[in-house]
Amino acid sequence: MTVNNTPLVDPFGRRIRYLRLSVTDRCDMRCRYCMAESMTFLPREAVMSIEEAGQIADAFIDRGVTKIRLTGGEPLVRKGVDQLAAHLGKRLGQGGGLEELTLTTNATYLDRHADALAAAGIARINVSLDSLDPDRFHQITRRGELDRTLAGIRAATNAGIKIKINTVALKGLNEDDILPLMRWCAGEGHDLTLIETMPLGRIDEDRTDRYLPLNELRARIEQEYSLASLSDTSGGPARYWRVGELGLKLGLITPLSNNFCDGCNRVRLSATGRLYLCLGHDDKVDLLSALRNGGEAAMHQAMDDALRLKPLRHQFEQDMDAGVPSVQRHMNVTGG
Ligand code: SAM
Ligand code: SF4
Repeated sequence: MTVNNTPLVDPFGRRIRYLRLSVTDRCDMRCRYCMAESMTFLPREAVMSIEEAGQIADAFIDRGVTKIRLTGGEPLVRKGVDQLAAHLGKRLGQGGGLEELTLTTNATYLDRHADALAAAGIARINVSLDSLDPDRFHQITRRGELDRTLAGIRAATNAGIKIKINTVALKGLNEDDILPLMRWCAGEGHDLTLIETMPLGRIDEDRTDRYLPLNELRARIEQEYSLASLSDTSGGPARYWRVGELGLKLGLITPLSNNFCDGCNRVRLSATGRLYLCLGHDDKVDLLSALRNGGEAAMHQAMDDALRLKPLRHQFEQDMDAGVPSVQRHMNVTGG
């Protein structure tokens, strides 16, 4: 069969290079900003098999995607995730098309998977960690145990994987944790990225109460430390800074107080095989049904149809002002 390697370009001329691949919507935690306390998860038959996820991801690599991030839900609760990583890892390097394979996790089960993920070629992992205080960690995640997450981070580091910590900044919840997290990351050799909470899906509380603009937080950090702007960009929403006194690389993701859409090169595949073109819009195309019902050619056609729907930008500011998310799906559906 001939391989379809037509580049994926959206109506605004943006070339798609980055796929976030969600392997499950399930999770062992219930972080307050991400999920409600009681969640209904997808029935198993609605979720892509590991083979289907691999087949769809291969099609994206053939068409120019160079970076894939496995995510969820919690990707490490999905059976077969190591096999998927091994399958995609074979596409890394010269001739394979893929330049980076990575993962975002809460790290509860990372100790069990670190060696297999490293062997698959995963060199960097993002770990979500919002506090180093065990009680507060539990309060934010509702079910998480700090010790497990820290053990996961240690195992990955021992396996040679570089860790970046992601912290969602939450007004009145973890404001005091940010400086200790910065110092801890600097001491452990991890990078740190701070994220503003985004209005995705209904949760049990009002998100606007928890919204902490990072420009405000940055001013507070600058009372203690000097920040030098770095020119690095991942083609994504993060802006990077070097914290002089700590030597720490600090990323700030400000979807609300800054717009980052002009250079967007990414799309997201949900665990049900639906392709979402923007985190902040509901437009999607069902690639899995196309594959199951019409085979690879139908799937490629659906990928082309999907790209035409990629919007120019998100609309998070309007959603926050209105106090209700216009995007009803939770972050665990499309993956962060
Ligand atoms: N379970 C994994 C984890 O927590 O790293 C991967 C999936 S999680 C949905 C990916 C990222 O999205 C995490 O860093 C999490 O903090 C972030 N996230 C979830 N809901 C969010 C929201 N409403 N606003 C901003 N970030 C959010
Ligand atoms: Fe689970 Fe990640 Fe959402 Fe927390 S942010 S509930 S760890 S999917």
